[in-house]
This record gives sequence, C-alpha cells and structure tokens, in this order.
Amino acid sequence: MDFKSIDQLNIQGKRVFIRVDFNVPMDEKGNVTDDSRIQAALPTINHALKQGAKVILASHLGRPKGKPEAQYSLGPVARRLSDLLKKEVKLAPDCIGPEVEQMALAMVPGEVMLLENLRFHKEEEKNDLPFAQNLTRLAESYINDAFAVSHRAHASVEAITRFFKEPAAGFLMKEELHYLNKVMEDPARPLVAIFGGAKVSGKLEVLKNLASRVDKIIIGGGMAFTFLKSMGFSVGKSLVEEDLLGTAQDVLKTAKERGVKVYLPVDCIVADRFDSSAQIRITPVQEIPQDWMGLDIGPATSVLFGEALQGTKTILWNGPMGAFEMEPFSRGTFELIRHIVGSGAISVVGGGDTDLAVHKSGEAGRITYISTAGGAFLELLEGKKLPGVEALKKQ
Ligand code: AMP
Repeated sequence: MDFKSIDQLNIQGKRVFIRVDFNVPMDEKGNVTDDSRIQAALPTINHALKQGAKVILASHLGRPKGKPEAQYSLGPVARRLSDLLKKEVKLAPDCIGPEVEQMALAMVPGEVMLLENLRFHKEEEKNDLPFAQNLTRLAESYINDAFAVSHRAHASVEAITRFFKEPAAGFLMKEELHYLNKVMEDPARPLVAIFGGAKVSGKLEVLKNLASRVDKIIIGGGMAFTFLKSMGFSVGKSLVEEDLLGTAQDVLKTAKERGVKVYLPVDCIVADRFDSSAQIRITPVQEIPQDWMGLDIGPATSVLFGEALQGTKTILWNGPMGAFEMEPFSRGTFELIRHIVGSGAISVVGGGDTDLAVHKSGEAGRITYISTAGGAFLELLEGKKLPGVEALKKQ
C-alpha cells in the first residue's frame, strides 16, 4: 500500500482524529438497528486506545441539511459504542468550535470522544478548507477509517489531510483496499462478477471496466430487464432504464469482443403488482405478460447461475437478484448466496442491500469479505480514483 497506516504512527499520548463511518440505520425511537459499521471500526479504535491515544471520532449520519437536526444526532451511536467498548464515550455538542476544542484539550490517554454529526455544517460536503482547518485544531494525528465515504471529496476525508504531516489509514480502510485491489489486480481465476439490484445507472460503467478483467459476468435483479429489453425481449412492466438500452448493448458487445461470457436470466418470477401479496407466476423471459413485472429470477435461472459459478475461484457480487425484501421474491437471492458459498471460491461482496441479504441468509460467516461500502465499492471497481484514498497517498 502506498500510504501509511495507523500501526506505523507513534500516537502514544496524542489526540488522534479518526474519521469513521457511523452512518448506521436507526428506528423511529432512535435506536441503532444494525451496528455492523460501528463494529467494523473497533479494531482501529481499540488499537489507538491500546497505544495510549486520546481518541476523537468523527462521522456523518443521514442527510441533515447543513444544520443541527435532533433526529440526526450521533447520541445513540455514542451509547452503542460505549456498550461495545465497555467504557464511557463522550458526545461533543458539535464537531468544531471553542467548546469542543476545550473538551479535546482536556482529554487524557485512553479517553474516547465522539464529535457531533459532521453534516450539521454544510461546509463538510463542500470540502471547505477553513472548516477542515477547524477540525484539525482538535487533534495531532489524522486517521481515515471510513472507506465507505472515501469516494466523496468531503472536508473530513479530503481537505483535512492537507493539514497533517502524516495522515494515515485505519485497519478497516486497509482491509477494504486489500480485498478490492486483490480482486482487481491479481485475482485467482476464473473471476466472475455478479450484478443485480434495481438501478442500472452507476453500474454500467463498472461492468464496462470489469469486462476487460473478469472471465464471466452474471446479471440478475431489476437491472437484467434493461439488458433483456436491449436484446429485443418484451419485459412487460419490469424495471427498465430506457435511456440506457444502448449502453447495455455496448456492454454486451464489449464482453463478446473480449471473450467474456455473459449470463442473463432465462426465466423469472413475475407479479401483477409490486406487493408481497401480489399474484405471482413463473415464466420464461420470452413470455413475460404485458401487464406484469419481473421481481425475481426464476428457478431455471438459479440453476443456470449455480452452474456458471462451479469451478470459479473468485466471485465479486453487488446487488440482489430480486426484490428480496418481500418473501415471494427472495428465493433467487438466497439461492445465489448458497451457490456462492458452495462454490468454495473467494467471495467479495459489497453494497448495503447485498450485505443485508447475506446477513439475512445466515451465510455471512462463509463469505470471504463483506465490504462496508456501496458507492465507494462500485467506484473502485469502475477504476476511478477515490479522493479520500488519494489524499492519503499524496502526503
Ligand atoms: P440497488 O440499490 O440498485 O442495488 O438496488 C437494490 C434494490 O433492488 C433492492 O431493494 C431490491 O428490492 C431491488 N430489486 C432487485 N430486483 C428487483 C426487481 N426485479 N424489480 C424491482 N426491484 C428490484
């Protein structure tokens, strides 16, 4: 890796600013419903504490409009982190300002303070230098452990690094980059990319880039219908991004030219409406009724995808095979997971819905690596440089 990591810095007794991604889901009562992102940052936090650092954590939560909004307070996150660390976690009233600076200065080694939501200041998303400088005043060292937000040039990820001599990566950042770079640069082959989910936009560029690197591409989920339509199938009321039909054809053409095998659904579960109590039917993709929509891959497709995965050595997966949140349309996604873990291949998966599906299936322990990122995961696979990662390299 061409940047420093936290274990290469001397942080003993120092105030260390760690950018984490604590953008966790919460229920209406303000309880954290899934703490995996908090858990993922624990190795870095624990390392800093063990080294006798004063740990200052910073994150955003949700999309407040550049000003404080109670529902986006990191208070519940501070409480959950405190339970996990079994020690007090102070919540600062803001992320910058004289009061927070005083609190930071008063910290003793082994203490943890969580700053209030970075996005309570509109300057965060504008990568504003003076705002970043104000954050800098809190600490003596900077660590980025938020891979999932490093595709965005925001102040706490990019601008802030300019004020530290040795900005460094946390363990989660290192691990994410290790697995994704391995898949991109030096994978065990055959390498298969599986894509699904609702949106085609954002993924086509990724598929284009991957077409020159992977051996097979499997496409399921809502996005498959844009591909099927581009090939001349009638897909009824299934999701289609009309303006991307041409680009879908380009991807298929590029794959063909490069000798990459592409697998699309041969049958699907269609429903008369987008509802778990809708009428459903299994149908070949050639026979999707005009007024119905495809909401999951069908059983023949599950078999086909399972066969395509046999003997593969690395599997990269993003996006569910159907509207898996509704029970009648979940089977395709769960069967795919069984095929992935059953293949014995190295499996690297990413994206919020994919992560959720893997955990729901009970097979999470058998997946080699589950990335905490969605957007950053896709941008890296697209071959883009991530501003947060580049900023660590520049120093
Ligand atoms: P994305 O954010 O693009 O990865 O999309 C994830 C969402 O796609 C999940 O919430 C799924 O319910 C949804 N999805 C997957 N397949 C379909 C489908 N055939 N029709 C509608 N939604 C789908």
